[in-house]
Amino acid sequence: MENTPDVTKSTAKFLVDGMLGSIARKLRILGFDTIYDSESNDRQLLAMARETGRYLVTSDHELFISSKRLKVASILVTSRSEKSRLFEIFSKTKSTGIPKFPLASRCSVCNGELFESRMREDQMQIYTCKNCGKDFWHGSHWKKLTVLFSEVQKMLENPAEGVNRLDSVQ
Ligand SMILES: [Zn+2]
Repeated sequence: MENTPDVTKSTAKFLVDGMLGSIARKLRILGFDTIYDSESNDRQLLAMARETGRYLVTSDHELFISSKRLKVASILVTSRSEKSRLFEIFSKTKSTGIPKFPLASRCSVCNGELFESRMREDQMQIYTCKNCGKDFWHGSHWKKLTVLFSEVQKMLENPAEGVNRLDSVQ
């Protein structure tokens, strides 16, 4: 039996390999505890995923095969666009939805938890990382992210159509 974490709970955790840094940042923004590791070798990644109860997220087919052999929960990401990649991840974790920002969001740089620290002059809420101190707010970048996340959500609500749309729109 594979130890499969439940992604619908906020406790779902990921270990993302060196090829997928942008995906690691998105998972953190969505509130998932996500380690991004571009240093460790395959054996170390497999051991870390197992020891920390994380989904290993990789685009490396060989690493994916090894994870299956060792019964480490893993997700092979095969598509190119971020939207399709996120859909692949959440559909393979049997999730029907992705969490809404900013309830449990994490620092996209270091994976630290965020807290509501202060307001900007324009009354926009600033969120600060408990770990590295970096500030975040819902600027223009955030608008693009909400579009991306809502598109992924639509694909998840209709998985059959979602599969057809994989990489069809870049
Ligand atoms: Zn941080």
